[in-house]
This record gives sequence, structure tokens and C-alpha cells, in this order.
Amino acid sequence: MSHHCKNLLVRCMDFRLTREMNKWMENKGYAGDCDLVSLAGAGKAIADGTPECETLLNQISLSAKLHNSSCVALIHHSQCGAYAGAYTFANAEEEKAQQIADMKKAAEIIKAKNPTMAVKLIWANLQDDEGREIEFEEIV
Ligand SMILES: [Zn+2]
Repeated sequence: MSHHCKNLLVRCMDFRLTREMNKWMENKGYAGDCDLVSLAGAGKAIADGTPECETLLNQISLSAKLHNSSCVALIHHSQCGAYAGAYTFANAEEEKAQQIADMKKAAEIIKAKNPTMAVKLIWANLQDDEGREIEFEEIV
């Protein structure tokens, strides 16, 4: 029996993303049509080449192989703990710029390993400390 999906979402594990991201996934048609990988600072791990990088790249390859996915949606978010430990940002714009640079670097690494995969970059901007409201923006 074959079961395919179009997308693979790669996101940070942060629980504050979950409620609003579920709504966003439903609105954007991801719900029921995506694999999901969740790991602390996921895209940063790929960009930095941490030990988790290989695991994430293998999950992406596995999604393509098992479920025929053709698009990775790489999701980063503001106030990410993975960045708080590594950087001191002067403001929200500086944090976003660094994360977007890392997302683009991660996208190149993903495409190098999986040349047939498209990669979308999604910025999730928490509007409060609890994630009650999140603005999702596709970075092009
Ligand atoms: Zn995070």
C-alpha cells in the first residue's frame, strides 16, 4: 500500500509553536499532507553542522524515499532558545536577519544532499512570549 505526501516540515521543538502552527498547517494545506520533524533549533543544527545535522538530513532523505515528499518547509521562529544560548541580539530585526541567513545556509545544505527537493523558508514571528499569536511569513 502506498502512502505519499507532498511536504516535510522541519521545525523547532518549542511547544509555543504548536497551537498556532497547527492552525497555519490547516490553512496552508499541510495538515494531512506532510511528514514532520521536530528538533530544538532544527535549521540552526543543519546550518551549524552539529551532530544532529546528519540525523536531520537523513530524515529528509527518508521522507523523500518512503513518502515521495518533494518539498521541505524549514521553519524558524523568533525567541528561539537555540539562538538565545549562542547569540545576544540587539533587537528583533537582528535576530531575524541571523536566522534567515542560517535558514538560507541550511537550505543549500539540504538541496546539496537532496537535489530534487524544493525548500521553503518559513519565519514564525511570536507576537507574545507564550505563542498565543504567531505571524507566519514565507521568506523568498
Ligand atoms: Zn526554537
